[in-house]
Amino acid sequence: MLPPEPHRTERIGWLRAAVLGANDGIISTASLMVGVAAASSSRRDIVVAGVAGLVAGALSMAAGEYVSVSSQADTEQAELDRERAELATDPGFELEELTNIYVGRGLRRELAEQVAAELTAKDALGAHIRDELGLSDVLSARPVQAALASAASFAVGAALPLAASVFAPSSASLTIVVASLVSLFGLGALSAGIGGAPPIYAAVRVTFWGALAMATTAAVGWMFRVAV
Ligand SMILES: [Zn+2]
Repeated sequence: MLPPEPHRTERIGWLRAAVLGANDGIISTASLMVGVAAASSSRRDIVVAGVAGLVAGALSMAAGEYVSVSSQADTEQAELDRERAELATDPGFELEELTNIYVGRGLRRELAEQVAAELTAKDALGAHIRDELGLSDVLSARPVQAALASAASFAVGAALPLAASVFAPSSASLTIVVASLVSLFGLGALSAGIGGAPPIYAAVRVTFWGALAMATTAAVGWMFRVAV
């Protein structure tokens, strides 16, 4: 058998998830700290906000990912069980169903019947899962791994503005904003480049949204400093 042709889309799945998680971590934690910095000049307040933002965000990403991947796995399992039951109770109907799918994809009736019969003889459930349900990687969803991976990528992203706030020479907010925007631009360009897309648009897009988020929370923080 020939080795499978390598495709960029396979790599993009996890890489994209990791980059998106890191982007989230940078944008939300930096915005949180810039908002607090606009309201209070205490370095300690800013750092506490950053640490709380990192922990809260990572846990929220983990919970969201766990719930979403689990429910996807439940749905796939239910479809699998139903298909297995249908194959056991009405194999004739299922063979006809498979044949019609191949006819629909352009095979002659006679050839479709032959293909359906041979695939059914080899692995009936596998053929129905693939061609009827359209699931390629059956039960590949791993909720715990997915939750840990997205929490970790968020935390790595969030650690960046947090480190900037700790090591900032004087103005914490300026250092946070510059470090965050530069990292967002770099991450955007990197992920687009690896995916084979033009890097500049992706980089500008994510940097724009990051800047908008930080400007908004800074405005909110500033209103508190003025009003309270
Ligand atoms: Zn079926």
